[in-house]
Amino acid sequence: MEIRGTTRLVGLMGWPVAHSRSPQMHNAAFAALGLDWAYVPLPVRPEDLEAAIRGLRALGFVGANVTVPHKMAVLSYLDEISPLARAVGAVNTLRFVEGRLIGENTDVDGFRAALAEAGCAVRGQAAAILGAGGAARAVLAALALEGAAEIFVVHRSVERAARMVAELAEGLSRAGLTVPPVHWRSPSDPLPEDIALLVNATPVGMAPEVEASPWPPERPFPWGLQHVIDLIYEPPRTRLMALAEAAGIAAHNGLGMLLHQGARAFFLWTGREPPLEVMRRALEGGSPAVPFDNPAAAR
Ligand code: NAP
Repeated sequence: MEIRGTTRLVGLMGWPVAHSRSPQMHNAAFAALGLDWAYVPLPVRPEDLEAAIRGLRALGFVGANVTVPHKMAVLSYLDEISPLARAVGAVNTLRFVEGRLIGENTDVDGFRAALAEAGCAVRGQAAAILGAGGAARAVLAALALEGAAEIFVVHRSVERAARMVAELAEGLSRAGLTVPPVHWRSPSDPLPEDIALLVNATPVGMAPEVEASPWPPERPFPWGLQHVIDLIYEPPRTRLMALAEAAGIAAHNGLGMLLHQGARAFFLWTGREPPLEVMRRALEGGSPAVPFDNPAAAR
């Protein structure tokens, strides 16, 4: 990739960002389509977010992705927020349109596309989400849009889960979306046996803590469980996925969501159809070789 005076720039703002696979995915896509574009990691400390956004504008960036810990904080600095991002309360993609900075959320549709690719139909089914952070919000919105009948949010702080559920239900309803009944549970509470999908939206099991599982290994899975999706993709097969497969349950990692949220951001910036298979191959190539300091923020 040659960077010239004409090269159009996008990037990823997060703290830290060194482990992100997004640069390799987007730069492979630009190269495949012969676009004079580049995607750069932009490490931005939480206290520098506002200055960094002014910097994006001043430096003529076309847009950016936003990851941990900025996805919610960035809402304060935008000229416009898409209805879905407003409903979810989180932005992962920024783009400048005629000087106005617009915030979007492509995680929601990215997760929906990953569900479809995994052959996981949730319409009319119950689903459970482990965790109540930014990714859990996007998953909950996606499951509501897909017509899940009932959703359970499992979190170590029941107050936090209750707050997240209430905020999201209000946001989605205000956006005119139908929200199924959403309940919160503590990790020790039983879950109904007819749950068809379990999603891990916590970092538990991520490298280097690869032996950890967010689902206690000795606890049987609900008998109706058909799919487990772990949003983690490093390692590509987590302990949770191995436990699910041993119980005869289909298990999928987080590369599908990462790919499809990236593909949607690529389209928003370039207006071009994303070369999905090129992007998938680039992602499967692995992480950049840098030391592991905080993999939780690697997007
Ligand atoms: P986040 O906003 O920090 O939320 C993490 C959630 O996990 C919080 O609810 C947190 O609980 C909970 N948690 C953290 N450590 C835990 C532990 N030891 N035991 C139980 N719960 C724990 O992070 P996020 O952005 O939602 O990301 C969550 C995971 O999803 C990460 O692994 C991330 O890499 C992955 N992710 C993947 C994609 C993808 O495209 N595949 C996209 C986004 C995120 P507290 O609130 O109590 O801290």
